[in-house]
Amino acid sequence: MNQTTSAAPGAYQTPDRPSLAVAGSNARAAIGRIFCVGRNYADHAKEMGAPPEPVFFMKPAEALITDGAAAPYPADTERLDHEVELALVLGAGGAPASPDEARALIFGYAVAIDLTRRDVQAAAKAAGAPWEAAKAFDGSCPMSDIAPAAQIGHPRTGAIWLDVDGVRKQSGDLGQMLIDPDALLVRLARHWRLLPGDVVLTGTPAGVGPVTRGARITAAVDGVGALETPIV
Ligand code: MN
Repeated sequence: MNQTTSAAPGAYQTPDRPSLAVAGSNARAAIGRIFCVGRNYADHAKEMGAPPEPVFFMKPAEALITDGAAAPYPADTERLDHEVELALVLGAGGAPASPDEARALIFGYAVAIDLTRRDVQAAAKAAGAPWEAAKAFDGSCPMSDIAPAAQIGHPRTGAIWLDVDGVRKQSGDLGQMLIDPDALLVRLARHWRLLPGDVVLTGTPAGVGPVTRGARITAAVDGVGALETPIV
């Protein structure tokens, strides 16, 4: 964010919209809400000791970190976890009632990391408290450039992986999702009318684990793109 802080006291500064680059062009796409789904891969739900019943939460667009930019290790946490995810970026809005209608709203795809303060999340779960402090903090959503569906199609199978300092930590396949991207959009649209610029993180495969200051995360989804995020 490049928001200036030099305005006079009481002034209103028009907010900047966070945006992502569109691969293969000079265009940028403004980003709106970032919807997230937890427990959308059965093997990850199992490693968390949770039932494979998807749960929805959100991050603000201001949580975005672009490809190659550093993610600051957040304050007041002893356990920052990586979760690699396929991100959908919507180019049109609506309330799709069928998977075909939902797919037509997707502008493109990206690689995302749902950075999670796992200790804070565990405490929130135990207390029945909200997840924002665990999931929606500044820098919690590194994302790659957007690969337009017009160029890559709509990937529903293919490898998704994440390395920490060159060591493979997560390895799965998009085909392992419990609810596929089109059906996820139909579910979301029951509660939120979808808008252009909305992003949906579709869940993470097994292998989540901690990163420390100085770690270098690299992640990719076959046919979509790659993402590099140093933790500082
Ligand atoms: Mn996640």
